[in-house]
Amino acid sequence: MDENCIFCRIVEGGLPADRVYENQHVLAFRDIHPVAPVHILVIPRQHLIGPSFLDEDAAFLMAEMFLAVKEIALKEGIDGTGYRLVMNQGVDGGQEIHHMHLHILGGRRLRWPPG
Ligand code: AMP
Ligand code: ZN
Repeated sequence: MDENCIFCRIVEGGLPADRVYENQHVLAFRDIHPVAPVHILVIPRQHLIGPSFLDEDAAFLMAEMFLAVKEIALKEGIDGTGYRLVMNQGVDGGQEIHHMHLHILGGRRLRWPPG
């Protein structure tokens, strides 16, 4: 728990979020500034900055996040139409919140490559 981290505050319940999925290891909630009809963030409950800060002990959380994605996609009805997963790391990646998160984007046709 990092007291200055807004996603840790969401995990702790101190900050509200539109939660769509949670289990022992991960939590998912709707992005407050959605860029697609479905825009959900999946985060580990544990404070991790991003993929560059992952170690062996925390590596299983990546698998937990992807298993959550599968459940959420089914629940949101986008498993058939598809979706994009994005994880931003650092300045060039456009990471604004330094608590690792996976964006699930779906519900419309996304362009490739991203800008
Ligand atoms: P990133 O640029 O990958 O760090 O993405 C951070 C994302 O978190 C952005 O898409 C924001 O809109 C979103 N965000 C920031 N604060 C909140 C919040 N309190 N609840 C939900 N989403 C948030
Ligand atoms: Zn955090």
